[in-house]
Amino acid sequence: MSDGFGSLEGKRALVTGAARGIGRAIANELASAGAEVLCCDLPGTGETEDVAREVGGRALYADVTKADDVEKLIADAGEIDFLINNAGITRDGLLARMSEEDWRAVIDINLTSVFLMCHAAIRGMMKRRSGSIVNLSSVVGLHGNFGQTNYAASKAGIVGFTKSLAREAGTRGVRVNAIAPGYIETRLTDVLPDEVKQTMLKATSLGRFGQPEDVARAVRFLCSDAAAFVTGEVLVVDGGMAM
Ligand code: NAD
Repeated sequence: MSDGFGSLEGKRALVTGAARGIGRAIANELASAGAEVLCCDLPGTGETEDVAREVGGRALYADVTKADDVEKLIADAGEIDFLINNAGITRDGLLARMSEEDWRAVIDINLTSVFLMCHAAIRGMMKRRSGSIVNLSSVVGLHGNFGQTNYAASKAGIVGFTKSLAREAGTRGVRVNAIAPGYIETRLTDVLPDEVKQTMLKATSLGRFGQPEDVARAVRFLCSDAAAFVTGEVLVVDGGMAM
């Protein structure tokens, strides 16, 4: 590779939430850099097979909130060099009206899943004294957002988790970082009202919405040797929105 990031040939990556959106772009980016990519999504998500075919990798199915699924997923995956915890959801609403179910669902899928995945994968990585974990946070986790107390709490939790695990795993050769995207055009953001989209656009210095590929390139950087001395970092990829 001549882009300065180096080849990822001979490396294996596991990407959760890979069936669409940012996860799909990450799978493509890592595969184009030479990595073998294992694409994980919920059972019954047919698009996972398409993505796996697209990237010449394997489709694996798991609900990342379920410890048994996650243990099996990591066992099926074999030795992994890169773990990308990307699966996530929103259940927006004002706190005064938020149900406990919407609170728990978001914390479970966005944050507890990161604990379960890292818990299952970290021992193998530390034993091999190498690995890079990238967790998908959000600018909302750094700055908060109207109607997103559950989502903001889950994404802020990822920041604290990432920095703590980076401290624990650093001397064992494992790097742990987070990415905090701004507004990225995917199915997750498609449902937002037009006026919210326009407000986001106005606040974005680069004057455009982010694309899944913008995030994927940052993930590739954090996996690559170009980031060999980067750990415990939160890389903001938001086009200059949350400055
Ligand atoms: P998306 O909704 O397009 O894709 C999310 C994927 O996660 C889906 O394929 C879904 O099936 C999968 N998933 C959901 N629950 C799962 C579970 N329990 N087990 C396994 N897979 C599950 O979303 P996206 O926009 O691509 O977002 C990807 C990540 O980036 C999320 O963590 C999101 O919070 C984060 N993020 C997105 C934006 C944005 O603007 N789109 C901004 C900041 C952060």
